[in-house]
Amino acid sequence: MKSHLYPTYARADLEFERGDGVWLYTPDGTPYLDFAAGIAVCSLGHNHPHLVEALNTQAGKLWHTSNMFRIPDQERFADRLAEVTFADLVFVTNSGTEALECAFKTARKYFASKGHPEKYKLVTFEGAFHGRSLAAISAGGRDAYLDGFGVRVPGFPQVPFGDLEAAEAAIDEETAGFLLEPVQGEGGIRAFDVSFLRALRKLADEHDLLIVLDEVQTGVGRSGQLFAHELSGIEPDIMAVAKGIGGGFPMGACLTTEEVGTCMVKGTHGSTYGGNPLAMAVGNAVLDIVLEPDFLPTVRKKGLKLRQKLAQLCDENPDIFEEVRGEGLMLGLKIKGDLAEMVGACRDQKLLVVAAGENVIRLLPPLIVSDEEIDDALGRLSGACTAIRETATKSGN
Ligand SMILES: *Cc1c(COP(=O)(O)O)cnc(C)c1O
Repeated sequence: MKSHLYPTYARADLEFERGDGVWLYTPDGTPYLDFAAGIAVCSLGHNHPHLVEALNTQAGKLWHTSNMFRIPDQERFADRLAEVTFADLVFVTNSGTEALECAFKTARKYFASKGHPEKYKLVTFEGAFHGRSLAAISAGGRDAYLDGFGVRVPGFPQVPFGDLEAAEAAIDEETAGFLLEPVQGEGGIRAFDVSFLRALRKLADEHDLLIVLDEVQTGVGRSGQLFAHELSGIEPDIMAVAKGIGGGFPMGACLTTEEVGTCMVKGTHGSTYGGNPLAMAVGNAVLDIVLEPDFLPTVRKKGLKLRQKLAQLCDENPDIFEEVRGEGLMLGLKIKGDLAEMVGACRDQKLLVVAAGENVIRLLPPLIVSDEEIDDALGRLSGACTAIRETATKSGN
């Protein structure tokens, strides 16, 4: 039968009925090892008892009231984020795109409120991905996502990845700041150098510009730090967060300092659903776990182990892999051959991975992945290599 869904996705003909930890199960009970985690969303795996309990308890009490009223769990969520980050102010959204939209508006309003409404541009970097709204695709700057959607939202000049000189040269009277992912996700797990991030922060400070970080994918423990910018020691002025922060519940947040965010006065922004009681029950439950003292050190340990194993895999299969990249449990393998073939070969081994730019497969397991599951994934990746080689031999390549 003809599908009534927008044909916007090249969906695999595969469905899952339930999940448990790092595992997903098809309706016939076949287990898949989930190193995609819904694209870095299911940070605590599937069916986490603490999250399920928080959701179920809240579901029986109150779902939604609107931001016309106080939402104590939203206040608590913001307090907790402010406590552990650079930020003083938090706006809660339903998605990453909306968190970025709030970030763009905050940056523009900040300068407008200081008497500089002409400063509205955020300089971006090639390979960026910031979501799919009109502003977000304009910020991402990728033609394939922009084609056919009319005039670009102005104000997002783009310079080559990691090019400090170009970033400096892009500054003009209208520049408000820089926008970047500390590690590009969709772009192919490309990390900006620590030295670049520090130099960019310095450049921004010299010119009184803002650093806006998109930590939608890198945030909430994915990099082994609570937020990836901590690896470089720099702090942003505005930061967009989503994905892992909801553990699978659609949720995001825009964080900023008091200095910058105070301009967003009554009526300047809003959201019907953002930060509703149901979402905040889950958001706080995710924080309960991620903020436990042992959580991030364990993520770092697992990340190191996975990285070492992947490096070994690359050494053993130089015909297939080029390199390992990334931080923490946000890792990528650059493939020499066909990317879709590799993703498919992994899927045949019942291992879920995500394709990214620059011919990279992303490994984004739930942050609770065990050592055994890491070993298991490596076995499946080896199996995928063998299968790809066999196919190549059969077709006479
Ligand atoms: C996923 C993602 C977004 C968009 O988030 P949505 O929740 O899909 O709107 C923005 N930026 C980055 C870096 C992302 O990975």
